[in-house]
Amino acid sequence: MAKINSNYRKLSAGYLFQEIARRTKEFTETNPGIKIMKLGIGNTTESITPTILKGLHFGVEKLGKAETYSGYGDEQGDKCLREALVKHYEKKGIILDISEIFISDGAKPDTANIQSIFSLENIIAVQDPSYPVYVDTNVIAGRTNKFNEKKGQYDGIVYMPCVEENNFFPEIPNKKVDIIYLCFPNNPTGATATKEQLKKFVDYAIKNKAIIIFDAAYSAFISDSDLPKSIYEIEESKKCSIEINSFSKIAGFTGIRLGWTIVPKDLIVENSEFGELNNMWNRRQTTFFNGASNIAQEGGLVALTEQGQKECKILADYYMTNAKIIKQGLESIGLKVYGGENAPYLWIKIPNRMDSWDFFNKLLNETHVVGTPGSGFGPSGQGYFRLSAFGHRKDIEEAVESIKNNLTFNFELDKIEA
Ligand SMILES: *Cc1c(COP(=O)(O)O)cnc(C)c1O
Repeated sequence: MAKINSNYRKLSAGYLFQEIARRTKEFTETNPGIKIMKLGIGNTTESITPTILKGLHFGVEKLGKAETYSGYGDEQGDKCLREALVKHYEKKGIILDISEIFISDGAKPDTANIQSIFSLENIIAVQDPSYPVYVDTNVIAGRTNKFNEKKGQYDGIVYMPCVEENNFFPEIPNKKVDIIYLCFPNNPTGATATKEQLKKFVDYAIKNKAIIIFDAAYSAFISDSDLPKSIYEIEESKKCSIEINSFSKIAGFTGIRLGWTIVPKDLIVENSEFGELNNMWNRRQTTFFNGASNIAQEGGLVALTEQGQKECKILADYYMTNAKIIKQGLESIGLKVYGGENAPYLWIKIPNRMDSWDFFNKLLNETHVVGTPGSGFGPSGQGYFRLSAFGHRKDIEEAVESIKNNLTFNFELDKIEA
């Protein structure tokens, strides 16, 4: 008799973005004709830049001639693209071997799949709030107990609160954990990490033979030259870190699908030998994955050229200007706004101790703007609200104007409570 993977039953009921869609639909049905402005989901909106588009076209054209046609490629990715990534990291002083880089169809699948090369006995630690994939995939794999409704957490996972009081950077776990997911610049808080901050985690990981899974999907949005764009900028981090990155947010490849993961040969855990984890990820990918699209990879190759990088920078600047407009607009009406510098997310401290979902309703009803309740990313997100800087400029401006003109607050209430 077949049986299901009952770990799926442990997943907490409502998927965040489904619930947002449901409430938005309900609003539009009861208020026909009202235009909704969406600053909720982190999806890119601006078109592929000219040179990168040419790269994609080139990839398509090559398929049209027998001499240049290609079928299955290497599961690990095209050699040219991996060499280009080696050079890309070299510019930051990071030396990698081509065999340490694995091209994929995106950072989400990689962040989801990477846990499969580790024992089910490992204790997972996540930033709270965090990108939901890290938690949910470990639930599905069976590394957790049930969802604890009261705490808003899964029993068996260590949550590292990232809140105003610690500037949205987690404390080092005070008990032994084995796999630590870190994401900087952070989705959803928009927080960044300094080298000194990351070093604390690298030191912890080396001391405890733990692993850091570093999600660097937003690294290209960093403009402050002092901030690290890669965990490998921290000394000794290759011994304990896997880094995952993507062309999605920076080159607009959200729909094209292209990312990469670095599993250093030096990476070691309690019972592994030199290079073994690198081999295991290779084995995992060659078994489960048949390589990223050759067209997408052709585009990625161009995105890493000097001209491609210039165009990516223009895209990043566009979204970061959006972030500035949102931040300044909301601050002008007295709201406390975090993030939005070196990261395309704004993390709003909700006044009047209002619950994240209540604020979602209020923002929707009063201003017709849709955002994302912070509590959807973990219990420490309660009382916060995420707005995304991905959007067309005029839509962003319209949404900010509407918030400025229509959102009502009793700021005196906070003073009394304080
Ligand atoms: C968007 C996002 C990704 C997903 O990237 P894809 O390459 O499109 O799969 C990964 N991590 C975080 C934190 C993200 O916000």
